[in-house]
Amino acid sequence: MTYCTKCLMPETRPRIIYNEEGVCNACAWAEEKKTAVDWNVRWKEIEDLCDKFRRRNSNKFDVIVPYSGGKNGAYIAYMLKEKLGMRPLCVTVRPPLEDPVGIKNIENFLNCGYDHVQITPNPVIGMEIDKESFISDGRPMHSHMICIQTVIFKAAVLFGIPFVMFAEEGETEYGGVTKLKNRPTYDLEDSINLYLSGVDPRKYLKWYSEKELYWWLHPTKEELMKLDPYIAHWSYFEDFVNYKHYLLAKEKLGLLERLERSIGTYDNFSATDTTIIFLYFYLMYLKFGFGRTTSEVGCDIRRGALTRKQGLELVKKFDGEYPEAYISQYLDYYKMTKEEFDAVLDKHANKDLFKKVNGRWVPTFTPH
Ligand SMILES: [Zn+2]
Repeated sequence: MTYCTKCLMPETRPRIIYNEEGVCNACAWAEEKKTAVDWNVRWKEIEDLCDKFRRRNSNKFDVIVPYSGGKNGAYIAYMLKEKLGMRPLCVTVRPPLEDPVGIKNIENFLNCGYDHVQITPNPVIGMEIDKESFISDGRPMHSHMICIQTVIFKAAVLFGIPFVMFAEEGETEYGGVTKLKNRPTYDLEDSINLYLSGVDPRKYLKWYSEKELYWWLHPTKEELMKLDPYIAHWSYFEDFVNYKHYLLAKEKLGLLERLERSIGTYDNFSATDTTIIFLYFYLMYLKFGFGRTTSEVGCDIRRGALTRKQGLELVKKFDGEYPEAYISQYLDYYKMTKEEFDAVLDKHANKDLFKKVNGRWVPTFTPH
């Protein structure tokens, strides 16, 4: 496999492009952010936008911040409230298999003085969608992935708040298509194509009524036209450094880490909302040959906290770790036997990259 010469992202990452020096788009963008982006100009843009929406939404909340209970949403809500004088409404979409650390983090954060609504899409339908896409596409938490888009769009319409601030534009930041890198906003089509793997959730209308799928469907075009929302990403306005957000959320907003290292990586403070995330990253590893460690190492190399050599050691040690401790939870959740569950992993493991030894998929490639 070919790997980025700066970080360790392999060629199997969807939509990755290497330049003539073998540098991936995420690393090239990290350089561009240092040299070609004028962050002062972009900060002025956010100040102007905040002024505009504070005036426009006089007696309502000024902005919606999607908030999973993690460091990024907490940091962005803090910045909007404390530095930009906004009244944010934090919106949490309740995930399946909630992690106790994530629940505690929401409580700690709210007690620092934030408004919040939590929306729970029907867990039975959620599980059925998850199970169907786990089996057919190897996507173990697809229902939640849909809802963290659609529920937020819906909440904007329901509460009449035309300004939404998502966290990072993941494609640009982590090495995918860069069409949004110099654009603060995105639309319905981007929401489906970039964040829902091109699968319009309306496909589930085959099995459920429109009412049952209320939270899984985007607002109608008419509803959106009436509200005319400004759906933005914080990463356009400020250099997006996960670790900086962690430090602030820990210091000021009561953010707690997991007691132990997260499975499949070396940190203990990322993605603490649901334990199904370990299966999500494990399947990513089986399909593409890179997991959560590779992604996090990339961020740490780009911010200068790790050398590529150190990153490589971490990838060899932790990437693709099997989520042994949670398998029984997953079987309960999907109502599957271990044999059925293993058959799904077998179906989606990339046979060009892995071979099965003693019942487990082991890589036939070596990161380098
Ligand atoms: Zn790279």
